[in-house]
Amino acid sequence: MPALLDPVLELLTVRGTVTEAEQITARMRRLRIEDEQLAGLEVLPGQQVRVLVGGLTLRTYSIWRYDPSGGLELCVLDHAAGGPGAQWGRTVAPGDQVRLRRPEGTFTLRPDAARHLFVGEETASVAFGAMLAALPGEAVVSGCVETATAADRLPLAGGDRLDWVLRGETSLPDAVRRLAPEPGGIAYVAGEAREVQAVRRVLVQEAGWDRRAVLTKPFWTPGRKGMD
Ligand SMILES: Cc1cc2nc3c(=O)[nH]c(=O)nc-3n(C[C@H](O)[C@H](O)[C@H](O)COP(=O)(O)OP(=O)(O)OC[C@H]3O[C@@H](n4cnc5c(N)ncnc54)[C@H](O)[C@@H]3O)c2cc1C
Repeated sequence: MPALLDPVLELLTVRGTVTEAEQITARMRRLRIEDEQLAGLEVLPGQQVRVLVGGLTLRTYSIWRYDPSGGLELCVLDHAAGGPGAQWGRTVAPGDQVRLRRPEGTFTLRPDAARHLFVGEETASVAFGAMLAALPGEAVVSGCVETATAADRLPLAGGDRLDWVLRGETSLPDAVRRLAPEPGGIAYVAGEAREVQAVRRVLVQEAGWDRRAVLTKPFWTPGRKGMD
């Protein structure tokens, strides 16, 4: 990276060191990044960071856990098409330096909602994990999470209250139809862009949800690189 860019990067990003890298599911690694620059940030459950995954290439990852004393955890999927983000997530190791932008995003928990519905796939389940962990035990939670195999399921707080479906057996829109969630709460729908739209249509057009109560966030789409 040209030295000329260093002051710009200093301004736009924070530095961190990878301190832990653990295989958390069959194809996902949990990465812990620590630095005093990461201490005391304002992080809302569901927010994400943009990480420099090689040269000046940025990829976006939801914050799985945040420790205000200066630790932040991500879970990165090693998907078959394997772009620079997947390559970084697969190879980064404790001791490696990372640059990332500060937490951002509005796909966040609405803590006051009467009910919470989570719908998405592997990558979306990282944000869901942060949101579920922030909810009190008595919160009314339901949802559908689709994964390629059972070994791809992230251990989510309250994950036993979600319907886990396998890709190819049931589509997410069909899983939502089967669940038939009543309107009246907030729906968080994320993951592959076309599936997000299809689930939104089921909720709004078939199940009668107010479109403002359905929060959507496309995380990736086939053939497109590095969405954010
Ligand atoms: C708000 C937000 C939060 C996100 N949070 C996470 C997260 O917590 N964990 C995480 O792993 N990813 C997350 N993503 C997705 C992530 O930013 C990257 O898109 C992903 O890592 C792919 O980057 P890449 O460089 O490997 O592939 P790219 O170069 O971006 O894409 C190459 C091709 O790979 C294919 N592809 C990309 N992603 C997938 C996938 N998941 N499954 C199958 N094929 C795929 C597509 O065909 C794409 O055209 C998030 C995205 C957004 C916008």
